[in-house]
Amino acid sequence: MGTDENCEAMKAIALRAGSTSVELTDLAKPAPRTGEVLVKTVSCGLCGTDREIIRRGIPDVPPGEDFLVLGHEALGRVEALGPGTETDLKPGDLVTVMVRRGCGKCNACLTGHVDYCYTGQYTERGIHKVHGFFTEYFVDQPQYVVPVPADLEDLGVLAEPMSVSAKAYEVAAGLMGRVCFDGACSFRARQEKALVAGHGPIGMLAALLLMTEGYDVSVLGRRKPGDFQRAFVESFGARYLDITKDEDRVFAEQEGGFLLIIEAAGIAELTFRLPGLLSRNGILVLTGVPRGPQEICLDGNTLMASLVRFNQTITGTVNASRENFKMGLRYLEAFKEKSPETVRGIITSRYTLDNWQDAFGAKNQDEIKAVIEFE
Ligand code: BGC
Repeated sequence: MGTDENCEAMKAIALRAGSTSVELTDLAKPAPRTGEVLVKTVSCGLCGTDREIIRRGIPDVPPGEDFLVLGHEALGRVEALGPGTETDLKPGDLVTVMVRRGCGKCNACLTGHVDYCYTGQYTERGIHKVHGFFTEYFVDQPQYVVPVPADLEDLGVLAEPMSVSAKAYEVAAGLMGRVCFDGACSFRARQEKALVAGHGPIGMLAALLLMTEGYDVSVLGRRKPGDFQRAFVESFGARYLDITKDEDRVFAEQEGGFLLIIEAAGIAELTFRLPGLLSRNGILVLTGVPRGPQEICLDGNTLMASLVRFNQTITGTVNASRENFKMGLRYLEAFKEKSPETVRGIITSRYTLDNWQDAFGAKNQDEIKAVIEFE
């Protein structure tokens, strides 16, 4: 990796092609060109996608390079603007950054909806062919840089996972729109039942979002009484459905109960039981990405009959638009206003450049979101 002797150096956490362990490397600090913003990283979250890229050891490196700087959940501060760059952003502004860069060809990308790219020829910072944000500085174009309210300095690093949960809800709300009659939409009504399957960051943030929207929220998982994630879920008023002891009984008891289910566990075997929990007109939104092939047993006839007879929908969602980032930030502000300790509790560990390696070790049972601080 290395730097030019004349350039100022900065630290970055990168994965070399063919390696399954990350390294701290020196790179040249970038200088913003016209049309670019230089951002100084405050912190960056670590997620399952990063862990999976490392586990596989075959990062999608940028063309002509042999390593990928990881990290796609950035919170930073604008340091400088390239000469003549047109933007409302100013040095000192707190910002987060979108992950995906569009193909520049399809209707979705050309209209700013890169998360719906049709061609698949997009890139993603820290994931697919462009360096990410586990670095002290980075440059980007203003269209991908999203201002973060100054009072979210403690939580702004959750903006990216929050944008994914916000998009999942937006997708559900759009689909629910088909059953809004005479201005009455059941998904806006208080106390409709919603379920979140999984309690990683996306699941926890989705559960808080659904609570904020007035749903009666349950979270499904495999934690015993007293376990951290379970106690956390119960602390903000959601119900915990424990499927460790008797999964069949829990499923039987909840059958037909939920208007909306957000899946955030990435386990196909569990996921394809979830349609049985949907109510009439129910929507199941999948956000988890299982890795590798795995056959599962499925009663396809019952599933298909139920989807048809009860107008049910199963959909997937990935990534997030600029609008979803803004929505996500509004939700973070709402959570903070209602219960700052709860939402802060989602960040279970903070590392620095002195102990960054610990963040990439075996995942702690109680971890929800780990972040690395760069300043
Ligand atoms: C990121 C998304 C990204 C997806 C697929 C997720 O971890 O949050 O922004 O599109 O991985 O690469």
